[in-house]
Amino acid sequence: MKPDLSKNKTIGILGGGQLGRMLSSSASKLGFKSHIYDPQKGCPASQVSDLTTVASYEDIKALTNFAKSVDVVTYEFENIPTQALDVIENYVSIYPNRKALLTSQDRLTEKQFLNNIGLNTAPFVNVETDAELKNAINKIGSDSILKTRRFGYDGKGQARLNSKTNLVDILLSFQGQPCILEGLINFDQEISVIGARDQHGSISCYDPGENIHQNGILRTTIVPARINKKIATDAIIITGKILNALDYIGTIGVELFVKDNKLIVNEIAPRVHNSGHWTQNGCVIDQFEQHVRAITGLPLGDGNRHSNVKMTNLLGDDILNLEQLLNARNSAVHLYGKKDIKSDRKMGHVNQLY
Ligand code: AMP
Repeated sequence: MKPDLSKNKTIGILGGGQLGRMLSSSASKLGFKSHIYDPQKGCPASQVSDLTTVASYEDIKALTNFAKSVDVVTYEFENIPTQALDVIENYVSIYPNRKALLTSQDRLTEKQFLNNIGLNTAPFVNVETDAELKNAINKIGSDSILKTRRFGYDGKGQARLNSKTNLVDILLSFQGQPCILEGLINFDQEISVIGARDQHGSISCYDPGENIHQNGILRTTIVPARINKKIATDAIIITGKILNALDYIGTIGVELFVKDNKLIVNEIAPRVHNSGHWTQNGCVIDQFEQHVRAITGLPLGDGNRHSNVKMTNLLGDDILNLEQLLNARNSAVHLYGKKDIKSDRKMGHVNQLY
């Protein structure tokens, strides 16, 4: 999509959760319209968008009409069925590109890609059968993590193994899904870098954030991360390398482990990322606007951090403390418009400047 702000162009967004919602708000700030595609009626993004299509990702007619109604398509999650993208691509460009999606949809492909461009990952072995799991444990060690190759998120689709684990039970629970066995990294810290690359190949990366997870779900991101300058610079260089290798356009999230002053890439998310929400209040231009700028052919904005930020996800019942949260000093509350409170459901987040 070429930059032409005179025409009130429309951005198509696949997925209408909180990421789609915040993308849509950023799109409108720059004068764009947005059209959300989501199988669920009343999804968070539909509440702040110009148009919504409620249809499944298998509905070719709905996908075709959606693609014809927009000027560019992006997405808020990486598990979009390939067939849906095939339909859309006949009419309009999809950013980030298919290579980025394919690479990150499958943990095996992702790790191979990272190793091929010279980056460290946890040791891993592909596992599809009982025999392969036993061999993999022999190679990786019993302290390991079994992860489904596809469709894992927020710690779902993975199990920690140790010498006492009953492998029969584990295999049953994974129901024959292709997996990888990963060596357990006894990391010092988890960090992430949110980066963006525009259509001319310019790159802008935010300061690395330090992430604290609970039950596999991101709880807080603290910026600046408590790491030394060299690690911070290396993490940013790694992110740039990934962006260039994928010929990427848009915002990306790169999750890394810090271990003994070395970096190990855990995973990449070809989209705006929960650990980048701090940029909404810590920078003049946040990760959502960078994404919108990149996919619409605009130049990237100033992603320098002007404040220290602690981002806390509001999960489930956390939202019941809303009044207290709203009254807190130096804090900005962001809510996603979700009606039903469920345990561990991401309802919003708070950015506290300090
Ligand atoms: P993932 O879905 O791969 O991001 O994993 C979710 C969380 O599990 C990560 O943020 C880490 O806290 C933890 N984790 C994942 N892989 C490993 C590993 N190889 N070693 C140690 N912890 C891990």
